[in-house]
Amino acid sequence: MKYIVVTGGVLSGLGKGITASSIGRLLKARGLKVTAVKIDPYVNCDAGTMNPFEHGEVFVLDDGGEADLDLGNYERFLDVELGRDNNITTGKVYRAVIEKERRGEYLGKTVQIVPHVTTEIRDRIKRAANSSGADVCLIEAGGTVGDIESMPFLEALRQLRREVGEANVAFVHCTLVPVMGTVGEQKTKPTQHSVSALRAIGIDPDMLVCRSEEPLDPKVKEKLALFCDVDPGAVISAPDARTIYEVPQLLEAQGVADWLIERLGLQQRAKPADLQAWTRYTERILNPRHTVHVAVVGKYTQLADAYLSISEAFRHAGAELWTRVEVTWVDAEQFERGAKPADVLGKYHAILVPGGFGSRGAEGKIKAIQHAREAKVPYLGICFGFQLAVCEYARHVLGIGKANSTEIDPGTPDPVIDILPEQRSVQEKGGTMRLGGSPILVKEGTLAHRLYGEAVIRERHRHRYEVNPEYIPRLEKAGLVFSGKHTNGVLMEIAELPEHPYFIGGQFHPEFKSRPERPAPLFLGLVEAALKRQTKAA
Ligand code: GLN
Repeated sequence: MKYIVVTGGVLSGLGKGITASSIGRLLKARGLKVTAVKIDPYVNCDAGTMNPFEHGEVFVLDDGGEADLDLGNYERFLDVELGRDNNITTGKVYRAVIEKERRGEYLGKTVQIVPHVTTEIRDRIKRAANSSGADVCLIEAGGTVGDIESMPFLEALRQLRREVGEANVAFVHCTLVPVMGTVGEQKTKPTQHSVSALRAIGIDPDMLVCRSEEPLDPKVKEKLALFCDVDPGAVISAPDARTIYEVPQLLEAQGVADWLIERLGLQQRAKPADLQAWTRYTERILNPRHTVHVAVVGKYTQLADAYLSISEAFRHAGAELWTRVEVTWVDAEQFERGAKPADVLGKYHAILVPGGFGSRGAEGKIKAIQHAREAKVPYLGICFGFQLAVCEYARHVLGIGKANSTEIDPGTPDPVIDILPEQRSVQEKGGTMRLGGSPILVKEGTLAHRLYGEAVIRERHRHRYEVNPEYIPRLEKAGLVFSGKHTNGVLMEIAELPEHPYFIGGQFHPEFKSRPERPAPLFLGLVEAALKRQTKAA
């Protein structure tokens, strides 16, 4: 097993995750099998209990792990399926160490950060790496060098190098090279400081990836190599890219993969680079022939990262159709304050209501859905957006005026959406929803079947509520088609309206499985329908 550790310096938000995923993609293009481990130094056990408005979306893995959004980037760039063990947090590590201590596994010992916590970290990294069967394991150490919280992790990574041998671990350090003054000089000092902070913990970087607005001046590269004691061929320039999907090519042009392959002695296993599919995809992202406008009606509209996988899924679907999907985040609450959905949403070619929790904005979302249904605007409902579409249908087509989800109105006389039976007794909040991938039976002759082209699909979930089985016969009689059901036959997974150009919702999150080369079918269908609507209007 070979390890590539990616650390960050100077400041956060440098795109360490994208750098690491891009390196992974380049190695994959060389025929190597790559996996990834993301280290998040926060004390939460997982990202599931964090507010997406502050932290960005919670990415759901197939095994039900609720992870940081970077795991999504790894899955998309590497086209792999990761699991909860690929995300290590301080919470997970300490919880395991404390449980071991209580079981008496360290009996007689004083339990300390070094060696007990760092050994737990190393064991977790090795376990995730080895169980994947990969050639290379990328490890992204979240946070910035010098943070109190990341200290035990960096110490564990230093120990890992000693344990598995220098030849098997490469350290890549991402920094910022800012431009100062009127002459526009690229300044190397922040990188120098960051590298010395890393050295102080015992880690010598093998490669520097320097973020900057413009490509690094060759002289600046030379200076960095000399002052930071890094091979000149391993000082890499990472200027601002037009799209994140361009980063692998930017790194490839500077020989990043070749350098790392040689450093880790992978020459025998590596093949010539094949970036064809990736380049084809990037081409389409950069040179769209059409544009459609989509409204995403939700609650967390201030932070695009709160719906990162949705944005990505639109990009993947758009690329397939040479279409740029212009997404506008529309605040649902305005429709509760009197704004008319037709006025606000009239100019969009499609509407999406994403996953969500709680009552805030729910009535506004229902109004938006009613507009989509009645004005025949293509609609995709995801999880909460699916549940609310069922409520909307019950209210306005079946005439059950107070139909609601018990999540929004616990006292509703018509709980069309109700808590899952197994959720009734659940008290703890962390990791207790219905989570992860499960199989769905798709009914033949439906829109869902045409889109997926398969009778059994697998999608990822994250919810506590479901369509109340008591209302299903009435909903179906009134024209709502449940075209996807859980293989247990009880849980409704997909609903659609045959009389509508495109109206479909899923109890799951299709965005988590969307890939550049394999867009999620429900997104592809929506963009296709949006394009049709746009052509008709033009
Ligand atoms: N709040 C809803 C539930 O718990 C929907 C969840 C979601 O959209 N992810 O069932």
